[in-house]
Amino acid sequence: MDNLIPLPYLFIFIIGASIGSFLNVCMHRLPGDQSIITPASHCPHCKAPIRFYDNVPILSYLLLRGRCRVCGNPISIQYISVEVINGAAYVLITWKFGLSAGSLFYALLFSALLVISVIDLYHKIIPDVITIPGIIIGLLASTFILPSGIKGAISGALLGSSLFFIIAVVSRGGMGGGDIKLIAMIGSFLGLTDVLITIILSSFIGSVVGILMMVFFGKSRKYMIPFGPFLSIGGIISLFFKTEIVEWYIGLNLWR
Ligand SMILES: [Zn+2]
Repeated sequence: MDNLIPLPYLFIFIIGASIGSFLNVCMHRLPGDQSIITPASHCPHCKAPIRFYDNVPILSYLLLRGRCRVCGNPISIQYISVEVINGAAYVLITWKFGLSAGSLFYALLFSALLVISVIDLYHKIIPDVITIPGIIIGLLASTFILPSGIKGAISGALLGSSLFFIIAVVSRGGMGGGDIKLIAMIGSFLGLTDVLITIILSSFIGSVVGILMMVFFGKSRKYMIPFGPFLSIGGIISLFFKTEIVEWYIGLNLWR
């Protein structure tokens, strides 16, 4: 084993975890239209500002055993989870797509999807301040860098959003405007094939989770499960396994 190989990955993990720390701030402040720059991070219980040495991603949480240094109240496990997940995702993206400009945009897409998923879970909204710039960045990246290409990106974004628009009209509110913009954002980064895979996977996973919720938690059919997290999971699975999924599908020989 060459000892030097893991070093870049460790470095990338630290970058990902540090950005994850910023994503936590976005998740808390975007739904309330608060600034993500000011004020500096503070404890949600006692409002004490968090000192820079207590703001080191992952490590501070572990050293303080998940409690505020000033008031001792527990700090949500969401903080360290988001940091670890974002760091690990950046490592996997670099491992799969190399140290490339493409990986940079996939990392951006992942972080956007992570923030959207958490906000949608808690607040049932998908913020336009993420999806609309996301669509523009995705289209630009597809034009110049990503393999989806501009045609794939535009057709993916249009097909996904018009399909969801029709579902929204037919179901009268079963699908929100946020979901329409979110699938357009995924399409603008990943292209047409990925949009189809994303829609199929997210509908499937969403249905399974919905049925499990009804069976185990007695949630009624009316209970609205936010769809954003499932779209995000579908998009990420498609990003990593599109080739395998398409090959598996062709192998089924359904059209003979
Ligand atoms: Zn505190």
